[in-house]
Amino acid sequence: MSDRVCVGPCNRLAREAWAAFLREREAHADAVDKWLAEGGEGEPPPEPVMPTVEWRPGEPLHCGRCRETCRRALLVVDELAAAWAARPGVVKAQTRWSRVRGTRPHGSLSGEGDVVHTLTGELLRLRRDVGERLELADLVPAGRSGVVRSRSVSWLVDKLDAVLALEGLTVVSAVNDPEQTVELGVVEWALAWESRLRRLVDDEPGRTVARCPGCELRRLEWQPRAGYYVCENCGHHVSEAEAMDRVTEEAGA
Ligand SMILES: [Zn+2]
Ligand SMILES: [Zn+2]
Repeated sequence: MSDRVCVGPCNRLAREAWAAFLREREAHADAVDKWLAEGGEGEPPPEPVMPTVEWRPGEPLHCGRCRETCRRALLVVDELAAAWAARPGVVKAQTRWSRVRGTRPHGSLSGEGDVVHTLTGELLRLRRDVGERLELADLVPAGRSGVVRSRSVSWLVDKLDAVLALEGLTVVSAVNDPEQTVELGVVEWALAWESRLRRLVDDEPGRTVARCPGCELRRLEWQPRAGYYVCENCGHHVSEAEAMDRVTEEAGA
C-alpha cells in the first residue's frame, strides 16, 4: 500500500477491507504462537488470504473524484440548508431563540432551527482555518445568515483544489450529535452534512433502477457516507447524477 493513495471517502471500502485483513493477520500470528506452544503438531493454522484491494491514488492528497464529490456535496448542502431554513416551523423556532438569547438549553431543538446555525458555524470555522493555512487576506464575516452561508460555500468551492491539498485539514463537527463532536476530513464532513440535511428534508437518494456500468446488474445501493452508489455485485462506484443519466439513457434507448 503506497502512501500516495487518496485520503478521501473513495478509498473507504478499500481501507475497511485492508483493516479487516490486518486484524486477521494478527489473529493468525496469535494462532501460530499458540500452535507452536502446543508442540506444533499437524498443519499450522491457515494464513489469511490477502484481499485484492484497489486503491485510488491521491493527487496528491485527494483524487479528482473526491474533489468532485466534495464540490457537489457543498453546493447541495447550501441548497438543502436554504430549503430547510425556509420552512415556517424553523423560522419560528429561531425567532423564539433570539428573544431568549442566552437562556437556550444546550443542544435542544437540534433537529430543527439549530441545524443550519451549527452548519454555518462549522463552515465559518473551516473558512477561517483555510484562510490561515493558505495565508489569504480573508475577513470571515460575522453572523450566520443565509447570505453568509452561501457566500462561504462559494468561497470554499472556489478554492477547493487548494483546500483539499492541505495536509491534515479537518473539521470538528456536531453534524450528527450536538453533544458529541467528531473530527472529519473535509470531504467526509461535506458528505455528512449532505446526508443529515437530506434526511431532514426527505430528499435522500434511495434505490435506483440504473444498471451498474461495471456488471450491468441493477444492484446499485446508495452509500450516504460515500455520497454515491456502490454496486453490491462488483463494487463499482456510480454518482447520483450518473445513475440518473443511465436511467434516462436506458428509458430512451
Ligand atoms: Zn478519492
Ligand atoms: Zn456492478
